[in-house]
Amino acid sequence: MVAPPVLVAPPTMVVPWFRDRIDPFAFKFQFKNVEYSSGRNKTFLCYLVDEGEAAEGLLRGYLEDEHSGPHAEEAFFTHCLQNHDPALRCSVTWYVSSSPCSSCAVKIAQVLKARTNVRLSIFAARLFEWEEPEIQAGLRALHAAGCKLRVMKPLDFSYTWETFVENEDQPLNLWEDCKDNYEFYQDKLADVLQ
Ligand SMILES: [Zn+2]
Repeated sequence: MVAPPVLVAPPTMVVPWFRDRIDPFAFKFQFKNVEYSSGRNKTFLCYLVDEGEAAEGLLRGYLEDEHSGPHAEEAFFTHCLQNHDPALRCSVTWYVSSSPCSSCAVKIAQVLKARTNVRLSIFAARLFEWEEPEIQAGLRALHAAGCKLRVMKPLDFSYTWETFVENEDQPLNLWEDCKDNYEFYQDKLADVLQ
């Protein structure tokens, strides 16, 4: 069986246009911070890359994978950071529908150790299989490698909606238990990283 390709929207500058953005229905389903993520067998990864004063602006884009194929986290480094000059500092921010699997976490930690000019912050809507010891070890490895790990707050969902989604100027109506679910995952993450 051939693994499905990772879908890569070309990076665009942050300007108010509505191309290469996430479908609003896909966003509302995939990013919903429910406790159990049944039916959500893919990861959406929205990214911002700030290369500082040398660059013309932020790079913005998103990646979408199927868990059965190459993962979005790995695709980011191969597709989106391939032309980055390793001598230049850059800050990368991800808004992901779920936190990385253990194998991605290990790979990301290795990249961050090898490329000390890259700073990565990950904001995750949900924690992926957070009860698994392997997953917890992966998150701790990321944290130890200097990666900032956070759970998405209600405000982060609104920001992601405005920045990455084909929102047709409509605000995001946050679901009822968004804040409670954020607090649930935030507690779990704090326990894992303590
Ligand atoms: Zn993965």
